[in-house]
Amino acid sequence: MSNTSNTDVHMYFLGLALDEARKCKPTPTAFCVGCVLTASLTDSSEPVILARGYSRELPGNTHAEANALTKARRLSKEELRELLPSTPEDVTIEHVLNRADVYTTMEPCSVRTSGLAPCADALIAAGIRRCFIGVGEPDDFVQCEGTRKLEDAGIEVVWTRGLEQECLAVARTGHRSNT
Ligand SMILES: [Zn+2]
Repeated sequence: MSNTSNTDVHMYFLGLALDEARKCKPTPTAFCVGCVLTASLTDSSEPVILARGYSRELPGNTHAEANALTKARRLSKEELRELLPSTPEDVTIEHVLNRADVYTTMEPCSVRTSGLAPCADALIAAGIRRCFIGVGEPDDFVQCEGTRKLEDAGIEVVWTRGLEQECLAVARTGHRSNT
């Protein structure tokens, strides 16, 4: 159960994810999604941002959550220790990802037609701790089962309340139905 200040922190990071989503180059065939990856190595320490990502940021038809994971894995050992000074010298990003929280403006995808791994699978493989979601994926393109997949894998899914309309509007930027 989260208290008010925790809720504020979650809203803050989801707001940053929304800022990422606004950086997307719109396309009529996909959503504009933003993602922020945070971690705190103990339950009492302040979370730090490991990486941010948005749809199509990295080359190819890439997704926000996968891009944030890729960027986190590109951090050097020095950068990682700078972000998390109290970590042991031999800390690896995979260890940190096991304590990571994901903030995404839209439910992680469960199906990719492009052949890339769906974001839900990538987050499960990374072993993240919790996933905070701005809005569910509407069935504009496919039926999304990302949340069910995450929960089945033991990842805590939190529906963040209050930014649903904004997350959806930004996601549908450039779509016919959004004019
Ligand atoms: Zn995805």
